[in-house]
Amino acid sequence: MKSKKTVEHTGKYTPYAREELMQKIQMRMSERRFLHVLGVEETAIALAARNGVSLEKASIAALVHDYAKERPNDEMELIIKTHGFDPELLEYGNNIWHGIVGAYLVEKELGITDEEILQAVRGHTTGAKEMSALDKVIYVADYIEPGRKFPGVDEARIIAMENLDEAVKYETKHTLQHLIEQEAKIYPKTIDTYNVWVSGK
Ligand code: GDP
Ligand code: FE
Ligand code: FE
Repeated sequence: MKSKKTVEHTGKYTPYAREELMQKIQMRMSERRFLHVLGVEETAIALAARNGVSLEKASIAALVHDYAKERPNDEMELIIKTHGFDPELLEYGNNIWHGIVGAYLVEKELGITDEEILQAVRGHTTGAKEMSALDKVIYVADYIEPGRKFPGVDEARIIAMENLDEAVKYETKHTLQHLIEQEAKIYPKTIDTYNVWVSGK
């Protein structure tokens, strides 16, 4: 299946041709998650075009953003323990690990070394105090891609097409609300993002 707005990969950011990269990603996840990834790519490209971001970087970052989402916990824990990651991460789960540790795996296994792409992957779940335009594109596209269905997603989509920063604010506020509602453990970086993008704006 080809997504509607496919962007050509020049080979500048990945050693693999598009089809091969897609295969490597698809192999690592359920069909449902792969469809989510394709949805994030399509949305990221649209947001990138509106915000002066490289379409190719948006495409690649979107395709790899959840690469580590279905890795077994023991494998992720081992990487955290042996590769200099903050041990505090061990108090969380894959929801928090897959971006941070995922960026490491994307570099190691997919040969993507572009720091802007890796940073967008690293921060896609929690956001960050400082976010590049590419970081925002991936963070927001992940939240509003066409397969997402939750109360408020349509409003988030409208905001995102008008103002990317406002979309970051909306997403951060509503995600934190949802996490508190669930009595989930909040990762400190999620709060940092809230303090800058919600309370600070
Ligand atoms: P996905 O990988 O496409 O499902 O989306 P994300 O990577 O954005 O988020 C994965 C999950 O992590 C979502 O359910 C978020 O609500 C959740 N999440 C985001 N921030 C935090 C946090 O600080 N703590 C916890 N426990 N979960 C979080
Ligand atoms: Fe994710
Ligand atoms: Fe995702």
